[in-house]
Amino acid sequence: MSEVLIVGEEICQQIVGRAEAFAAVEAVFAAMDRGEARNFPVVREALGHARALYGFKSGFDQAGHVLGVKSGGYWPGNMDRGLTNHQSTVFLFDPDTGQLSALVGGNYLTAVRTAASSAVSIAHLARRDARVLGMVGAGHQSTFQLRAAAEQRAFEKVVAWNPHPEMLPRLAVVAEELGLEFEAVSPQELGAQADVIISITSAFEPLLMSGWIRPGTHLACMGTDTRGKMEVDSALLARATVFTDEVAQSVSIGEAQHAVSQGLIGAEDITPIGAVINGGHPGRGSEADITLFDGTGVGLQDLAVASVAAKLAVERGLGARASL
Ligand code: NAD
Repeated sequence: MSEVLIVGEEICQQIVGRAEAFAAVEAVFAAMDRGEARNFPVVREALGHARALYGFKSGFDQAGHVLGVKSGGYWPGNMDRGLTNHQSTVFLFDPDTGQLSALVGGNYLTAVRTAASSAVSIAHLARRDARVLGMVGAGHQSTFQLRAAAEQRAFEKVVAWNPHPEMLPRLAVVAEELGLEFEAVSPQELGAQADVIISITSAFEPLLMSGWIRPGTHLACMGTDTRGKMEVDSALLARATVFTDEVAQSVSIGEAQHAVSQGLIGAEDITPIGAVINGGHPGRGSEADITLFDGTGVGLQDLAVASVAAKLAVERGLGARASL
């Protein structure tokens, strides 16, 4: 009989902070580049019930000794029931025996691992003297993104734009809490002021045009994680040095899918961020380069933060145990 550790959402929020998520995500991106960790093909299906999208993201990190799957998806009717629309749970297995070792709530962890991903890109690719952070998007993920990004450079100001402007106050509150000046601007003005831009929307057409982006800008495009979604002008990817979490996802479901299908860039033009972390790629070439990180969201990120949650829960005597 095996014992399963159960780590709920509240415990995850209590024990996995931004620093732990950053370290776990950076380490797994590096392991992916070394060929020591791999993601398995993603399954994502429309259920034909409750308008839900349901799927699995799975992988194995040999370096970190982590095997598992995140299962969940998107239930648009949940808000009316007082629940989050995105729902997920991580199942961790013992890589030596295949036995289920932990069940970990995945909702909060999805937000911190996604924010950690753009933060890792900023840490490795943004100019050192970046002072203005541009936020495109003001939904659930956006405040996690803002908090994690703010720690990567000595930012002084946040400029923000969202297709639904009534959502912007949520970012203004966090900026104020972080001691950063806040200004709601047009997307053109955002491009003119920002040194670093994060996009985290559900857009299906470009919100930022290439001509609005200044030389030297770093962009983290985080919203596009499905075929058909799009946040920035394809011409921007042809102009930028493009990085990603995983090239296979970048060209198929990430921001680069459009530039690739239009023949503007090829998969060979896209560098895994792990190569920069490991020192195999120099990252930003010059101060004038535009760097663009296509953060598609890989299962190994989920497993990395979930395994941190499980480890810390054991160390601190938190969580429940059940026999299987
Ligand atoms: P949310 O529903 O809370 O917010 C949606 C955001 O997109 C808001 O800013 C909203 O104004 C904007 N938006 C909605 N419909 C739009 C449209 N048709 N055109 C342009 N903008 C639109 O969602 P969230 O939880 O903040 O997630 C934002 C996006 O990030 C989603 O697309 C989600 O799938 C994606 N996401 C990506 C990852 C990753 O790892 N890359 C992880 C989690 C979420």
